Amino acid sequence: MRDRTREEVFALIRDSRDLTRSALVELTGLPSSTIGHAVARLLAEGRIAESAPPAKGPGSGSGRPGSILNAVATSIRTGAIDFGHRHFRVALGDDQGNVVDEEIVRLNVDQSPIRGLDAAAASLRALCERNSVASLTCVAAGVPGPIEEATGLVCSTTTLSNWAGMYPARELEKRLEVPALVSNDASAGAFGELHLGAGQGHRDFLYIKASHGIGAGLVINGELFVGGVGFAGEIGHIIISGRPELCRCGNRGCLEAVVSVPSVKEQLSHTHPHLDVDLVDLATLNDPVSARILNESGRTMGTVLAGLCDLVNPTILIIGGELGSSGPPLIDGVRASVNRFAQPSTSSAIQVVAAGLGPRAELVGAVQLAAVLARA
Ligand SMILES: [Zn+2]
Repeated sequence: MRDRTREEVFALIRDSRDLTRSALVELTGLPSSTIGHAVARLLAEGRIAESAPPAKGPGSGSGRPGSILNAVATSIRTGAIDFGHRHFRVALGDDQGNVVDEEIVRLNVDQSPIRGLDAAAASLRALCERNSVASLTCVAAGVPGPIEEATGLVCSTTTLSNWAGMYPARELEKRLEVPALVSNDASAGAFGELHLGAGQGHRDFLYIKASHGIGAGLVINGELFVGGVGFAGEIGHIIISGRPELCRCGNRGCLEAVVSVPSVKEQLSHTHPHLDVDLVDLATLNDPVSARILNESGRTMGTVLAGLCDLVNPTILIIGGELGSSGPPLIDGVRASVNRFAQPSTSSAIQVVAAGLGPRAELVGAVQLAAVLARA
């Protein structure tokens, strides 16, 4: 019979990553002999596995050197979708949040969310077929817009007009016939970075999805923070004073009207007339002129992010999305502005980095969210 202590220890191992025996002692307050016994039984049952600790990280500090423990994934398979503005990504995951298979599909999702939902459901079914998966347990998706947490309603009528009034989770449930969870894409990205990216080991950080729009995902005290109704992180419409650019929300000088993939590409079309800016991968540009444009974009974005850093006091500021993956010039620009405009005590405590998972952060986050839903 499985006893309660063993199940409690299993739940802790399953819901975290890379716990050591000494971390379990600390978390539970139980004697190390009790933890040792429970871990030994779980290992014998094949429900968890142990491996050597990474060179730096849990288990390498002072005290008892410990191998790290992780739950063994079952055959449960989940679906994950990251809806962008001009593409979507789909993945199969397991109940430990590992990506089993994935795919990217180019499609103008903004123009027709219904087509996007249909195509994403079809792609997930194709992934299942390719991997001989008979059925999914659940699906999680990230959508680039403000989602009312209690209902899953996409609320904005100005920034994501074709999605407004839709319940994407219900739409996915209809199409895939499994429970679905839908989150704002930047929150999904933050969740991905927290578990498997640059946010690992950080309890308080900001993740910025800088792509066609700009949104923030907040991790506060080790948890996703979505605010009272679910709209925390809608930073794309913070006004940069004095800027004349007209935003799709009707205001002038919004952050995402000034800095976004389209604005960078518009500048590139002036400086690089022979470049097909619609198809260019920003990460492949390595000439001084494009570096200047990206660095300036980073600096401009950084003036807004500096204020957010003063508000939240994060230990790391992670820049994701297509702009985050574009390379050092943009990240250096953000860092320069954070150093220049945030309070010295705030900026000295913060690292500014590109997303560890690159443009896959939102998809990996959706796989993590689906794993949480599968285990619930
Ligand atoms: Zn705006």
